[in-house]
Amino acid sequence: DSIANQIAAGEVIQRPASVVKELMENSVDAGSKNIKLIVKDAGRTLIQVIDDGCGMSETDARMSFERHATSKIRSADDLFAIRTMGFRGEALASIASVAQVELRTRRHASEVGTLIQAEGSKVKSQEPCQTAAGTSFAVKNLFFNVPARRNFLKANTVEFRHILDEFERIVLANADVFFSLHHNGSEVFHLPPGNLRQRILGVFGNAVNTRLVPVVEETDIIQIKGFVGKPEFAKKVRGEQYFFVNSRFIKSSYLHHAVMSAYEEVLPKEMYPFYLLFLDIDPARIDVNVHPTKQEIKFEDDRLVYNYLKVAVRHGLGQHGV
Ligand code: ADP
Ligand code: MG
Repeated sequence: DSIANQIAAGEVIQRPASVVKELMENSVDAGSKNIKLIVKDAGRTLIQVIDDGCGMSETDARMSFERHATSKIRSADDLFAIRTMGFRGEALASIASVAQVELRTRRHASEVGTLIQAEGSKVKSQEPCQTAAGTSFAVKNLFFNVPARRNFLKANTVEFRHILDEFERIVLANADVFFSLHHNGSEVFHLPPGNLRQRILGVFGNAVNTRLVPVVEETDIIQIKGFVGKPEFAKKVRGEQYFFVNSRFIKSSYLHHAVMSAYEEVLPKEMYPFYLLFLDIDPARIDVNVHPTKQEIKFEDDRLVYNYLKVAVRHGLGQHGV
């Protein structure tokens, strides 16, 4: 079974940033209002996420390391109504199979919490402990038992850039949650809760404030909201383009094309505008269960989504005289 976990880990846990993504998504799913990420050595030696979410009981904490242990899907029908970030119950089992994990968790109603030490798929110990309400996951020495994967990691600057990418996507999708990020003892991000504009400024800097054009469009089946950048601030490099479908970050060249076509001639050649757009669609009309890292998505009617998106962006730009 630990072999099965390691194979699953190969798909889900590719690098330290994958651990950051899975732990932070779990904290969001747990209804946390404060989430702190602590990283050492670009995640090689330590990735810790501390939240004030619902916490886990002693039994649930132990169960969380079992493969396909998820509290988020109760029946096959739920698969079509996915609103949480996680649902496969693979992440923690995968992480524990390739690292040393220390879990501290306490439910708000319990007086004592529980501390679990796991390593290479084995729960080594569990004991009661004093801890704040919520959950703290510390993942140490990632890939300690898989030298090939460890050696495959890139330079710390590269790995940390991947961590920042995942961190930014999650904080941008959850503006109402307080987040902080500490790397090697210094605070890199400190993001108090606020609205989406405030969160964008927190991540990209106050200078972007005057470059943002709001987009809001709503129909019976789809809701589109967010911001696009004024064309004169478009950049030669890609990277500041974000789609979130039902709060989940996704990559889509198809949707990207829809946004680009809304800019028509107003964009200089080979330039990419900033955009950060939330699409909310009835979960029955999308299929998120496409890839283990869940960054791809299928729509029931993608032409329709394409056209709505184009109209929404066109509309937003038009209202701001672009
Ligand atoms: P999934 O998120 O797909 O359900 P995971 O392996 O990521 O699977 O987590 C397993 C289970 O552990 C979750 O379903 C949840 O019940 C519990 N869990 C994990 N992280 C947290 C957390 N930070 N707070 C509360 N419960 C958690
Ligand atoms: Mg999860």
